[in-house]
Amino acid sequence: MIAGGAALAQLNAEAKCPADPLEVCNVTHLSSVKMAEIAEIRGTDDVRRALKKWQGPVSVGGGRFSMGGQTAIHGGLQLDMRAMNGLVKFDTAKRIARVQAGMRWRDLQTILDPQGLAVQTMQSYASFTVGGSVSVNCHGRYVGHGPVGRSVRALQMVLPDGEVLEASRQTNSELFHAAIGGYGGIGVITEIELDLDENFRIERSTSRVSIEDYPGWFREKIQANPNALLHNADLFPDRFDYPHCVTWSRTDRPLTVHERLTPPGRPYTKEKLFFWAMTELPGGALLRGKAATAIEDSPAVVWRNHEASLDVAQLEPASRDFSTYVLQEYFIPERHFTSFARKMSSLLQSTPTGVVNVSIRHSPADRAVWMAWARQDVFSFVIYYKQGLSVHAQRHAAQWTRSMIDLALSHEGTYYLPYQLHATQEQFLRAYPQASRFNKLRQQIGASRLTNTLWSQYQV
Ligand SMILES: Cc1cc2nc3c(=O)[nH]c(=O)nc-3n(C[C@H](O)[C@H](O)[C@H](O)COP(=O)(O)OP(=O)(O)OC[C@H]3O[C@@H](n4cnc5c(N)ncnc54)[C@H](O)[C@@H]3O)c2cc1C
Repeated sequence: MIAGGAALAQLNAEAKCPADPLEVCNVTHLSSVKMAEIAEIRGTDDVRRALKKWQGPVSVGGGRFSMGGQTAIHGGLQLDMRAMNGLVKFDTAKRIARVQAGMRWRDLQTILDPQGLAVQTMQSYASFTVGGSVSVNCHGRYVGHGPVGRSVRALQMVLPDGEVLEASRQTNSELFHAAIGGYGGIGVITEIELDLDENFRIERSTSRVSIEDYPGWFREKIQANPNALLHNADLFPDRFDYPHCVTWSRTDRPLTVHERLTPPGRPYTKEKLFFWAMTELPGGALLRGKAATAIEDSPAVVWRNHEASLDVAQLEPASRDFSTYVLQEYFIPERHFTSFARKMSSLLQSTPTGVVNVSIRHSPADRAVWMAWARQDVFSFVIYYKQGLSVHAQRHAAQWTRSMIDLALSHEGTYYLPYQLHATQEQFLRAYPQASRFNKLRQQIGASRLTNTLWSQYQV
């Protein structure tokens, strides 16, 4: 059975975002979901009241950057968490912060930076809410950190019956480990307590290695280097075979950028123009490799918080009216790296995919979390691609995405869930065999009405 067909049925023909405020439009503009009601949440009591009053299906919306309707369900109530964004507790000596779930990383950084502290683990951009990030169990470029769940000390959650409880590794640990990476399917997370790190200066260095040498090179030069904080390696069209590696390591050298944090709300005009040229002009894709690597090869020393506070607006194209930009991610056990990378390169060359780049990262295993995507040490491959809006273009993207998922599964790997829901039911269950245990817990605690397009599409 092709469950991806169900996802396609929700796609807008010639997608555009409707103006109706109850229509939750996807960040890609490829699909939208009409809610019956959206409730703005400002505190835990608002969540309790909303769950009591509304007896139908309920979805939770954070920053709404997921790409497959994971924050919405047709005809349901959406709890919009973005206004519940205060600081609950801050212990600078112990390096712990407790925040409300709708706070964005960038707002937390404004609080942490004057105290010389930094978020321990987060995505490459700071625009996401902490609640949304924990609910997908996000990761970043951090060397050795793995998913964000490892830096979460405790959660306050509201269960579907309105009970407010505290969950941690010691208390209500099943709920804690199921809610992290649980895509709003267990409870509404209202507060999150996080371990923090020190803010310090970091220096960029770059290298080029062959794809075959990369895993060994990474182990020796990056994983074994205690000063390496951030690392990724980019592959570019059309061969995707020669990683350009960028590492940020702790340093005492003088800053080349004095700003402490990346200011929000920049127009990013130059970046948008460059991106347009790269994706629209003939030969533009090849420009990306050359131009980006030239920029990244220049020396830079910045604050860790500066590099961690980038805005997703930097990636936003000038328009999504004719085409859009989408992400996919695959997690592949270390031992299968080379075979997967070679076969991925062949697949991406054999069919028009619009891939702009593939970014490689590494994550140690994290088996505690129920819906874990890193069940062993993995390399991840993040694919960023341009996609047309027509139904034909959407069907084509769904097809090659399913081929990529098959490739990942044949290498004992898995795929990331916050993106488009193209996987078939069978692919989903092979990638996430833990889903049946997760679903049993949902039923036990009466959480089936906490749902969204992800949980309604894949029946366990
Ligand atoms: C440009 C771009 C770059 C990205 N880069 C990365 C990256 O580097 N690393 C990475 O791991 N991911 C990355 N992502 C994916 C991103 O981490 C997820 O889409 C994440 O969900 C975004 O956070 P959000 O606040 O927008 O969450 P939303 O999209 O709003 O929500 C995501 C899920 O969490 C649930 N949820 C939200 N808040 C709560 C809550 N308080 N309680 C319970 N459930 C809740 C929602 O119901 C939904 O199922 C990227 C996405 C984009 C668009």
